[in-house]
Amino acid sequence: MKQQTAAGRNRVAESRAGRHFLQIPGPTNVPERILRAIDNPTIDHRGPDFGRLGRDILAMLKPVFRTAGPVVIYPASGTGAWEAALVNTLSPGDRVLMCRTGWFATLWKEMAERLGLDPVFIETDWRRGADPEAIGALLAADREHRIKAVCVVHNETSTGCVSPVAAVRAAIDAAHHPALLLVDTISSLASIDYRHDEWGVDVTVAGSQKGLMLPPGLSFNALSRKALAAAAAARLPRSYWDWQAMLKANADGYFPYTPGTNLLFGLRVALEMLDEEGLPQVFARHARHAEATRRAVRAWGLEIQCAEPSDYSSSLTAVRVPEGTSADALRAVILERFNMSLGNGLGPLKDRVFRIGHLGHFGDLELIATLGGVEMGLALAAIPHRPEGVQAALQFLSGAP
Ligand SMILES: *Cc1c(COP(=O)(O)O)cnc(C)c1O
Repeated sequence: MKQQTAAGRNRVAESRAGRHFLQIPGPTNVPERILRAIDNPTIDHRGPDFGRLGRDILAMLKPVFRTAGPVVIYPASGTGAWEAALVNTLSPGDRVLMCRTGWFATLWKEMAERLGLDPVFIETDWRRGADPEAIGALLAADREHRIKAVCVVHNETSTGCVSPVAAVRAAIDAAHHPALLLVDTISSLASIDYRHDEWGVDVTVAGSQKGLMLPPGLSFNALSRKALAAAAAARLPRSYWDWQAMLKANADGYFPYTPGTNLLFGLRVALEMLDEEGLPQVFARHARHAEATRRAVRAWGLEIQCAEPSDYSSSLTAVRVPEGTSADALRAVILERFNMSLGNGLGPLKDRVFRIGHLGHFGDLELIATLGGVEMGLALAAIPHRPEGVQAALQFLSGAP
């Protein structure tokens, strides 16, 4: 098996000069510094060195979530942290208010159904974020407080639309409703401004493989006091995801089961890198690359999937292709000719959009190369466009600081 894997790897390396451009909106390109940290011998997860690592990381995570409360780490994909948020806070049959902002919100809702919850789904056209007014109206009408949680995807990765979490909080408060607020920041944490404490979020769900620049395999829950109180009364069955066992072990920097030790080596370096650059600078860099990308899309004469400028995502841009053309054929030719992966259209957007990831470890020249690959691909795939997108992005990037 091992030999086959190595042979497969070599085949790819031999046939492709230059590096692969992983411009899907997660997993993202992992910087060398993080790869070097992961590439160390695994240590005893019950020994003293691990305790120090665990305590460091659990403290360093808090400013990234903008919280003073606990953050727990699972050796799991983001989907695991979705489940943890639901099973720790809710009971069988509980009503939850969710917004179909796109594919990921739909998956979270289907999970809630499978867990025996009763989701109420607010529909959207997949071209904007969640509507705080619609949420507020349903909460105000819920006089018996049957709705136990409001679940929002901060950055909907299938559409490139951001939901206004602070406004959702304000709508919950204006309705004087006690529902918990659960937010998925899997593709926004460390890319787009986010404030767990200030926005009164009860559980923030995050993952390692997007803005945090790590490989997939870690996910997170940040917890409010109210979430912890809800957990004490919640009756959905839980074992692996149970916060109590996790928090007890975390107090000394340890975990109740084997953690993703080598990914945690990488996480410590990722958190150092974010601290060195500074979160405001990280957010500004993402916003600038997103703006340059949108200028390129408009110059090509193509349409941005997000129809609401206030909801534009800084971590990815979903681009609609003209009727009668195929986004998947475009992505295939770009992969084949330029060794670049772009995100596909999900659910009803299959073949109708392609998604450019511009998050994580990413600079101006990488953006220009990415847009260059798209522009050449548009020509090769015979998609009607003006070949002026890269030029528009260059002008913007060389002007704006
Ligand atoms: C990637 C993503 C997920 C799914 O995370 P997995 O790690 O694939 O389980 C969920 N929500 C959002 C917003 C995402 O971007």
